[in-house]
Amino acid sequence: MYHISDCRKYIRCPHLFLYEQKAEESSYIPFVRLDESMTELVKAKLGITDCFEGHRGDPAELAKQALSEHEWLVNARFEYDRLRIKMPFMHRNGDVYDLYFLYTGLFPRGDNLLYYTSTVWVLEHNGIPIGDIRMVHLNVDYVRGETLDPAELLTVSEQFFTSRNHPSGNIRTRVFEGVYDMSGLLDEMDLCTAEHLPAPVRTSRCSTRSRCNAYETCFPEETTEDNSSVLMLTGSSEKYAMKKDGILRLRDVPGSRIEGLNIQYAEILADQNGGLYADRTALRHWLSNIQWPVTFLDFEWDTFAVPPYEGMRPYDVLPFEYSVHIMEEDGTVTHKIFLSEGDDRREMAEALIRDIPAEGSLMAYNAEGAEKIRLRELAERFAEYRTALLDMADRMEDLQLPFQSGMVYDVRMRGQWSLKTIMGMMDDRSYKDLDIREGMQAVMEWRLMEHDEDPEEKEKIRKGLEAYCGMDTYAMTVVLKWLMKLV
Ligand code: SF4
Repeated sequence: MYHISDCRKYIRCPHLFLYEQKAEESSYIPFVRLDESMTELVKAKLGITDCFEGHRGDPAELAKQALSEHEWLVNARFEYDRLRIKMPFMHRNGDVYDLYFLYTGLFPRGDNLLYYTSTVWVLEHNGIPIGDIRMVHLNVDYVRGETLDPAELLTVSEQFFTSRNHPSGNIRTRVFEGVYDMSGLLDEMDLCTAEHLPAPVRTSRCSTRSRCNAYETCFPEETTEDNSSVLMLTGSSEKYAMKKDGILRLRDVPGSRIEGLNIQYAEILADQNGGLYADRTALRHWLSNIQWPVTFLDFEWDTFAVPPYEGMRPYDVLPFEYSVHIMEEDGTVTHKIFLSEGDDRREMAEALIRDIPAEGSLMAYNAEGAEKIRLRELAERFAEYRTALLDMADRMEDLQLPFQSGMVYDVRMRGQWSLKTIMGMMDDRSYKDLDIREGMQAVMEWRLMEHDEDPEEKEKIRKGLEAYCGMDTYAMTVVLKWLMKLV
């Protein structure tokens, strides 16, 4: 029996379908936190008090039988041919059933149409006449009060929305236009075996949005490529073709076959120079703006689909930790850390103002994409600290810039410029020695710490979080010193 997710993988790539079938179930850490039972919230929103409620592993006959016994069916499982579906909410309305899908975003999009069309295909083949099709989703205008109000938190739409959040068409019409006989696809999936598939071919689907889970299985040779391999060329549409043509190293890449990005020139020149390239004039100019003391700042935060605290909106971000390293001109460094449990944003804003010197430069790594945003969010929330927090955001420099812009490149970076990659080239102390080594792992640990009753375990997590966030700002001190040494 297949699920819709299997069909989706097969349609994206048969190799991915086979890979995921063999892969052990991995422990996926959701980026966005969803603590509440959305099923219960939707039941409250739609006023469902009496219903049939389906569960994983239910025999398909159970839901069919429930059709005659209940007006509402929640998470009912149905099967047809070789496909099994879960229908989130369906309501008998005269002779037809109205369908309610759950969309845990703010504006339901039509880009997951296969999910809706295949559900309808299965329901129709179970003899279920379908009336309206609606989406229950989070209300963009909702601001949480003291308690969560499902009636206001959720909203019901009959329209899909565009990526610019404009209505893009009636859901029922779009779904019915897209329904097709899935038996042919299921036949193909039955016949799909490694022996019948041609070798994987690299296309844009392998790395569009994010790198495919099966990438290293499909193309294992890439993981062993040399630091100077042409495949390390950033943003190159020609690198695989060049490799095929015998251009194997960065140093041999002709100017006519690059897109002309600064980082590409830096990568080629680094290999020609024995491994390191630095545009010392540009770097000196960038460093000349730095004023002492230099403060390095890093935040950790969690994102909540359903606002957990008063005053929060759906998908608001809650910063829970920051680390600050302050480096004086004579090399002296002091370290400060703030770590909360729950919503301590006011205390955090006050501590930031206390901990960060009003003078000197303020730096973060990927400042535009994270720290500046966090500071502006806090400024928006606490009017009394607005000026001080906005001043911090305005004077913040991005330490990533010299790498991102191609001022500096070391072939050991292998086309990447994350803080971890750069730190890995420079210092004995590294992320490898820490209990927490990744941002998402830090978020997961924080989620555990919040609910852990054992004080020893709490303390262990706290120390791990402090070490991880502290390593990020320590790493920035090392990187800045290295850049200064280069000029
Ligand atoms: S890496 Fe590319 S070829 Fe391999 S499974 Fe993914 S999409 Fe298919």
